[in-house]
Amino acid sequence: MDGLTPAQHALRARARDLAREAASQAAETDRTEQYPWPMVRRLTEAGFMGMTIPRALGGPGHSTLDAVLVIEELAKACAVCGRIAVEANMGAIGAVLAYGTPAQQRLAADLVLAGDKPAICITEPEAGSAATEMTTRAVRHGDTWVIDGVKHWITGGGISRLHLIFARAIENGVDRGIGGFLAVRGGEGDPPGLVVHRRIPSMGLRGMPEAEIHLRGLEVPDSMVLRPPGGFSRGFGRLMEAYNGQRVGAATVALGLAAGAFGHALDYAGRREQFGRPIAEFQGLGWMLADMSIRIEAARALIHRAARSAGLGPDGAATMPGFPDRLAAAQAKVLASEMAIDVTNQALQVWGAAGYSRDNPMERYVRDARMFAIAGGTAQVLRNQVAEQILGRKLPQTREGIRRLAAE
Ligand code: FAD
Repeated sequence: MDGLTPAQHALRARARDLAREAASQAAETDRTEQYPWPMVRRLTEAGFMGMTIPRALGGPGHSTLDAVLVIEELAKACAVCGRIAVEANMGAIGAVLAYGTPAQQRLAADLVLAGDKPAICITEPEAGSAATEMTTRAVRHGDTWVIDGVKHWITGGGISRLHLIFARAIENGVDRGIGGFLAVRGGEGDPPGLVVHRRIPSMGLRGMPEAEIHLRGLEVPDSMVLRPPGGFSRGFGRLMEAYNGQRVGAATVALGLAAGAFGHALDYAGRREQFGRPIAEFQGLGWMLADMSIRIEAARALIHRAARSAGLGPDGAATMPGFPDRLAAAQAKVLASEMAIDVTNQALQVWGAAGYSRDNPMERYVRDARMFAIAGGTAQVLRNQVAEQILGRKLPQTREGIRRLAAE
């Protein structure tokens, strides 16, 4: 009924086993706000870092849907672990696999398969939803690009090795458009111009550092420029296609959080008694639980549809992994992120005061779920994208764009 193959059921069962370990450390990771390195080692051993990397590059060549199945199971237990699996299978790694030179692909594959969760650096203090208003500049000097600017809310800042940095490419004084530039931290010859300036304290997902990164004369050789087809002028659009995979991954972590919280709510409703009977027997709670289950299934269906749109794994299709369809990815992320905020809150409500206590995981689910309607395209901005596509027309957001449209 779920349309999954026996191999996918087996993969999901393996992820479920590892999720038990993830669950046992989730509260401590949240409390200490430390990146869960021991779990990263377990994820690496299990082959869940770099699942979508083709066999030719040393990976297992799984599909986006395979990665989604693993991410949901991990996120049910530990959302930070789910996010690590997202970034080790989608986003920056997807962009490098799709557009990178063979040497770039090899570098990225080796790092991720060894346990790195790459960072993707787009957002700036004055360029959030309006990402194309970024001011970080990469100026070409012969075979070297020199990058200056500030990025913030960079997931993994301080622990990630591979960085995909978006910047305006300036050649001969001319702005050619937005390009992707690769830099590696944490090895020999750490790039001195890539400075993790500060960690940003966050509401949830506290084991995952969010950082402000200062780029101060960061030197990137031309061989580390990620050039999608069409060059810099089409660069941003192409690089953002890779982000559709990341959006499906983020939607899946939201789904996992909702499903995990729902599981705890169902269990508690069956064993907690008031007025001499299990609270599950009260229709007020039964309907709440029913609605939660319906919304979780709806989100899962949209996410799987979006993941399937990326095609088979590289070794099924004999090509590099594709990206999920833009419309399907946006629809899935809007539904899943808002559903997770509601469902985790309702699950806490089922637990009453016990849900509000930090002794239990319910309040962590609520905090962890909040970010998915913000990061990687807010729910409002993604609704704009959905509207553009279903209406089949551009919906400019700047005053200038609206004026231009009116003049056509
Ligand atoms: P703003 O753009 O300032 O938006 C503020 C409000 O205005 C929002 O409600 C928004 O929906 C609304 N709004 C803005 N424009 C429109 C519009 N045209 N129509 C309707 N409403 C609109 N960035 C990275 O580059 N790399 C990362 O790894 C990364 N990780 C993140 C992790 C977390 C936990 C968070 C919270 C953010 C992360 N981000 C990352 C940044 C994230 O992508 C941005 O926060 C997001 O794009 C929104 O930008 P903003 O926060 O500046 O909000």
